[in-house]
Amino acid sequence: MPPIASPLAVREGETEADEVSGSPKPMMTGRRSGVEQLLVIAFVIIPLSALIAAIPFAWGWGLNWVDAGVAIGMYLITGLGVTVGFHRHFTHSSFKANRPLRVALAVAGNLAFQGTTTGWVADHRRHHAFSDRDGDPHSPWRFGSSPAALAKGFWHAHLGWLFDRNLTNRERFAPDLVADRDIQRVDGQFIWWALASLAVPALIDGVATLSWWGALTGLFWGGLVRIAVLHHVTWSINSICHMFGERPFAARDRSANFWPLAILSFGESWHNLHHADPTCARHGVQRGQIDISARLIWLFEKFGWATNVRWPTQRRLDRLSV
Ligand SMILES: [Zn+2]
Ligand SMILES: [Zn+2]
Repeated sequence: MPPIASPLAVREGETEADEVSGSPKPMMTGRRSGVEQLLVIAFVIIPLSALIAAIPFAWGWGLNWVDAGVAIGMYLITGLGVTVGFHRHFTHSSFKANRPLRVALAVAGNLAFQGTTTGWVADHRRHHAFSDRDGDPHSPWRFGSSPAALAKGFWHAHLGWLFDRNLTNRERFAPDLVADRDIQRVDGQFIWWALASLAVPALIDGVATLSWWGALTGLFWGGLVRIAVLHHVTWSINSICHMFGERPFAARDRSANFWPLAILSFGESWHNLHHADPTCARHGVQRGQIDISARLIWLFEKFGWATNVRWPTQRRLDRLSV
């Protein structure tokens, strides 16, 4: 990969443009309280411990079809809540959603244990505004491009940035969501959605097997392990997809298309196209690039729930190609 002199130095000509056209509001505002910080740590560490425990657990007691089915179902709902909801709809407005769909997407995203709609969107819009430069909440290039700096940068972009107690200014980066009363109501109930995200798989598994043991394995596989897998897939877009892969489109950062994660990330790992054309509803635009999120948006459009979908056009893609 080509070396870059100073990874996070703002490129010439961009600082002023960003500052002049940008909002005068500060980039960050306030800090997390001690309790909130503890919750963030717990939300990361507990599912991760379950993921590590899953290996001997699966070896010893097996994983039955009910556990697997519940876990996959929950992964689909919460993962698509993040990719189609938090990311493509709320952050980038790549399509308009009617009110029930909009609220449902916010709920599905809140179930993913990745914070609220408003917080997620504010962080992610800041990522696009400053991608791989000073101000990016999670660039793997933050510390430089030597192997040691990249190892440290990988950790920071994947997970470490979550523990920064300084909060992205929502009034600056997500004023549309701050003003949306329905979304604020859903976000205000975040802790209940998080509990439901654990309780629902336990309940389904418990009822399906008519046993407390089933409820426990449902909580473990459909709750904790599923949350941890989705966490790491989502975080890999921030870390791996800004380091490794192909860059067929002109983006002003180090974003790359990383095919091995295409299915698990529901098309989000076609990240180079996404940075080249952030509002595009489809990220996997080249031949054979599977994009499950785009397929779901297409379905929503067919039902009439999604409108103004920004589908890619050949002319636009030709212009974006390097
Ligand atoms: Zn990115
Ligand atoms: Zn994005």
